[in-house]
Amino acid sequence: MDDFRYLKGSLSCEGVSMRDIAKSVGTPCYVYSCATFRQHFIRLRDAFAPINPLICFSVKCCSNLSILRLLTELGAGMDVVSGGELFRAMKVGGDPKNFVYAGVGKSDAEIRYALEQRIGLFNVESEMEFENLARIARETGIHTGAALRVNPDVDPKTHRYTSTGKRESKFGVDLERAAAFFRSYGRDPFVSLRGIHLHIGSPVYTTAPYLESVTKALALMDELTGQGFQIDTLDLGGGFGADYESDQSPLADEYANAIVPLLRDRVTNGLRIILEPGRTIAANAGVLLTKVEYVKKSGDRNFAICDAGMHTLLRPSHYGAFHFVWPTDVPAALVPPRRARELVLPGLERTEVVGPLCETGDFLAEDRMIPPLHRGDLLAVYTAGAYGMTMASRYNSHPLPVEVLVEGDQFRVIRERETYDDLVHHESA
Ligand SMILES: *Cc1c(COP(=O)(O)O)cnc(C)c1O
Repeated sequence: MDDFRYLKGSLSCEGVSMRDIAKSVGTPCYVYSCATFRQHFIRLRDAFAPINPLICFSVKCCSNLSILRLLTELGAGMDVVSGGELFRAMKVGGDPKNFVYAGVGKSDAEIRYALEQRIGLFNVESEMEFENLARIARETGIHTGAALRVNPDVDPKTHRYTSTGKRESKFGVDLERAAAFFRSYGRDPFVSLRGIHLHIGSPVYTTAPYLESVTKALALMDELTGQGFQIDTLDLGGGFGADYESDQSPLADEYANAIVPLLRDRVTNGLRIILEPGRTIAANAGVLLTKVEYVKKSGDRNFAICDAGMHTLLRPSHYGAFHFVWPTDVPAALVPPRRARELVLPGLERTEVVGPLCETGDFLAEDRMIPPLHRGDLLAVYTAGAYGMTMASRYNSHPLPVEVLVEGDQFRVIRERETYDDLVHHESA
């Protein structure tokens, strides 16, 4: 599953002890494993090999340049949702023909920038956006390709903030409007509308929503082909799960076993498939390290107050997300046998793991049975590689944390910890 393991009661990432990393670079600190990134990417690529997809990594889940470079070198394309993400993807030398650009609110400047970089595919989310893209393409004289993001009205059974393919979501256009969309815009001289894009939400822990949405998309494509439109690309989006708890998510093989049979013949006949995975590659490849500053009791509750909080990892507070939290150094009897909400081990204490911010919503883990904590203990917050650092903020004027990449028995800083000067760098007094 990943390369974070206890050796003699001490958590390591690949061949490096987490305690040594914290000693060297301080906390809070995001630690990523090269080997886990590689393994997750390769597993997905191999599972889907029969339909040979272009795998575009979702930059928004983990956008550090070193991570983007690692994945680019493995052959990944990039899925970007802003001009800033495109800038990052360009920086590491990826081929923009292998980039796809989604997002409901692309600005004129972003569209122009993406056209100039000759990105492979715009995933268009509305009629007005297509008209704007076509206008800018005509003005600049740059031809491009586009896919229509359709909303298959499928319930991915996930948090309402990350459910993106239901009828009432702001993303894409309804299936019923798709044919009319192609009739209006399917013959534009500058923007060749030739694909269908889906992204139903995230994380999706079963294969059924994919089956349902791909089936609907194929029916739509047949209808469009019948009307004389050439559809050569189907972009399935992202959303494959990650193991926030042990074995929570289907493996790449299980997603592939469900999806590949629907598409294999079409691919033989020339259809190109794109995947946009983020979390399933990155989430388990990263752990957030945080130090316990203080412990205290309030009423009958134990609080561990850490140097990381919702400003470092927003997911618990924003989505009510579960992240397994455990001390990095424990006696043998307290090495966690798996990552789960409730572990039955001797001497655990019910604890609220919270951050330093002046917000009651500032927590990392609520009501959790974990080993008793002391000032100075180091905690690992697992499955933090996706939507961790990229959602971090400087709220309460805390500088952004440091990021570290481990490879074998080495590690290196891939983003320095910000300083107080960095905090005010763009301000005037
Ligand atoms: C966020 C996003 C993804 C990636 O989702 P994951 O759950 O991280 O796989 C893919 N495509 C689009 C359009 C997205 O917005």
